[in-house]
Amino acid sequence: MTASSEFTAIDEHAAADDALVVRFFDGRHSRPYAALLKVRGGTLTVAPEDDATPVSVPLAAVRWPERTRHGGRLAQLPDGASLQALDVAAWDDWVGRHHRHESWVVRAQQNWRSVAVALVLLFAAVAAMYQWGLPWVATGVTAAVPRSVDALVGQQVLASLDDSLLKPTTLSPDAQQRIRDGFARMIQHAHPDGAPAVQLEFRSARDPRFGPNALALPGGTIVLTDALVELMPGEDDAVLGVLGHEFGHVLRRHAMRQLVQASAVGFAMSIAFGDYGTLIGSAPVLLATLGYSRDLEREADAESVRLMRASGISPRVMASFFEALERWRADPKADRGGKSGDDAIGLAFSSHPATAERIEFFKNAAQE
Ligand SMILES: [Zn+2]
Repeated sequence: MTASSEFTAIDEHAAADDALVVRFFDGRHSRPYAALLKVRGGTLTVAPEDDATPVSVPLAAVRWPERTRHGGRLAQLPDGASLQALDVAAWDDWVGRHHRHESWVVRAQQNWRSVAVALVLLFAAVAAMYQWGLPWVATGVTAAVPRSVDALVGQQVLASLDDSLLKPTTLSPDAQQRIRDGFARMIQHAHPDGAPAVQLEFRSARDPRFGPNALALPGGTIVLTDALVELMPGEDDAVLGVLGHEFGHVLRRHAMRQLVQASAVGFAMSIAFGDYGTLIGSAPVLLATLGYSRDLEREADAESVRLMRASGISPRVMASFFEALERWRADPKADRGGKSGDDAIGLAFSSHPATAERIEFFKNAAQE
């Protein structure tokens, strides 16, 4: 049986409309229909000859047969329907023109098997992270997380800190404004072509263990405690140096990177499905358990030096600040609730040990 003998009338429509005549099995009846195949914008329409309702399916949902030298062509549609070629050469030509030109990405996105493969690859990437270089891979994964997620995480974390660790500032509006202006100027001098937006949040610590402190949240919010501003009275440069360090964490998205690293599987799933809700909700608890590596601290210190230099501030002030911080820690009269200030929040400034190496770094920077 050939196309012309079986479906003469429909053949004429087909030629005019770039359609292909096929045998159509609807999956419910054993009798085939003659039908016209047409493709419009990624949708395949099967129009049976006898005015039955046309069937439309996404082109990507069709399982096309392998091209073979001999034998027929049978394509599977969802719901058990199928299409059979009447003229194999015409079929191959038509399918080649309409199917293979579909963008690979469009087909991949519409195909659940591709999503499954993508997930397997993501899990492999996660496994590779643990095996070979978590921080390096975490940087790459972080780049795939939209910036809007950082901002949402930052809001959640700040709200959670306000509920637990922080209370409103008691600094005078003048003092706050002086520091805001100095910080904005410093960033402007060092990054005249633009820098990520930062928001300073002044707070007093509810828990004395938090003491003189600063903390960069994902999304660019920097929390600064009153005790830090008051640690070296009249010495705003030290405060600016600390803020410069926190700005370094913002600039390089360190907090988000640590979050990604700590919940790699969760982020892989979020990126695959575009749903960050669960991760954003769990971020406050997670962030409280994290810390920065020495490498990330070095990057932030280098940025601090860069900002101070651009504003004519000597990096030596940071060495003085670390010494003042040590004196505060050692002071038996200081109200710390009898505990060390090191264990409140891992990402906070006071949790980064003021090692001899760091102090040396700032002293050397002052001499260059
Ligand atoms: Zn730091």
